[in-house]
Amino acid sequence: MAQEKVYAIPNITTPNTPVIFNPDICNGCNQCVEVCQIDVFIPNPEKGKPPIILHPEECWYCGCCVNDCRRPGAITFNWPLQQRGYWKDKSTGKVFRA
Ligand code: SF4
Ligand code: SF4
Repeated sequence: MAQEKVYAIPNITTPNTPVIFNPDICNGCNQCVEVCQIDVFIPNPEKGKPPIILHPEECWYCGCCVNDCRRPGAITFNWPLQQRGYWKDKSTGKVFRA
């Protein structure tokens, strides 16, 4: 059977990256790839390496990838600037939405 090469070409419309992988903790299990309903990631062709963020601008920050990862610290959100605002109780200073 003839072999075919498949190329994955990322959209580079924005410099956005919705999540950051820690290659020291991530073991490339690809659970986050499986749960992302938008297919933001593809598995890394190098076994054991973090997935590749192919379509970063499609992320809607549902949280599934980060919440389903079984290795704490392997993947973290990189919130867009407009979502980084937080709210504090004026009297106590307690942050209630960070
Ligand atoms: S970030 Fe977590 S879920 Fe995704 S490949 Fe790495 S270890 Fe697996
Ligand atoms: S936050 Fe949701 S949409 Fe964004 S990459 Fe993770 S699973 Fe996909």
